[in-house]
Amino acid sequence: MSALQIRQVLCHEDNYAVIVHDPESGETLVVDTPQAAPIREALEAEGWRLTHILNTHHHHDHVEGNAELKELYGAKVHGPAHDKNRIPGLDAALRDGDGVSLGAHRIDVIAVPGHTLGSLAYFICGENILFAGDTLFSLGCGRMFEGGAEQMWHSLDLLRHLPEDTRMYCGHEYTLSNAAFALSVEPGNAALQKRAEEVRKLREKGEPTLPVTMAEEKATNPFLRPESEEIRKSLGLHALENWRVFGELRQMKDNFKA
Ligand code: ZN
Ligand code: FE
Repeated sequence: MSALQIRQVLCHEDNYAVIVHDPESGETLVVDTPQAAPIREALEAEGWRLTHILNTHHHHDHVEGNAELKELYGAKVHGPAHDKNRIPGLDAALRDGDGVSLGAHRIDVIAVPGHTLGSLAYFICGENILFAGDTLFSLGCGRMFEGGAEQMWHSLDLLRHLPEDTRMYCGHEYTLSNAAFALSVEPGNAALQKRAEEVRKLREKGEPTLPVTMAEEKATNPFLRPESEEIRKSLGLHALENWRVFGELRQMKDNFKA
C-alpha cells in the first residue's frame, strides 16, 4: 500500500481540519469541518475529491462545514450515533468498535466520552495515526463539558495505551498555552521543558505543533501523567486513584491564568 497523504488545514483562529488522501483508491477524508472554505481550497490545490467526512463530536466548531462540503462533493458524513441529531447531514452513525474504510485502510472508532458524551476518536490501523478531536490535545486535554472526571480519565487512559509511535492530530492548536500550565505543575520534567521550547519556536514561525507522537505526549502531557510524583506533590495529593488526580488537574487548569 502506498503511503497516505495528509494535510493539516488551519480554520478560524486555532481549529484544525485534517485531510487524508489514499492515492491507491483515490478516496479522501476530512476529520472535522470547522470551516468549509479553507478545506475546499486545500482539496482543490491537490485535485482531491472529498469522499468521507468524519466528525469527532457535535460542537459547532467541528461540524460547521458539513452541509456545504457534503453538497459540493457528495461526501458521506460519519459521526457519533450518540449525537445523531446534532451532526448536520449525518449518514453513518458510529459507535465504539465500529470501523470505517478508506480504500484498503481500516479506521477504528474509539468512544472517548468526557469533553462531550458522544466524542469519538479515530485511529488509522497499521499507519498508527490518531485523530483525538477535543479529547486530547498536545500537553493538554479538552474541558469536561458533558462528562465526569472518572469517565474522561478512562477515555484518556485508552488513548495513552495506543502504540508509542502513534502520530496524534487534534482539534485545536492550543499547545503553547497548554505548555504554561504543564510547566506549572511539573517544572522539573526535562522532556516537558524541551518540548515547551520546541513549541515556542514552532509558534514563532507560525508552524503547527502537531502531529506529535504518543510516546512524547506520555512523557510531557500532565493529563496523561497522574502517576508522576512531582505532579502529585504539586497538587498535594498522594495515594489517590489516577482519575482523582486527573480530575484535580482538570479543575486547576480551568482556573489557571498564565
Ligand atoms: Zn469541542
Ligand atoms: Fe473545539
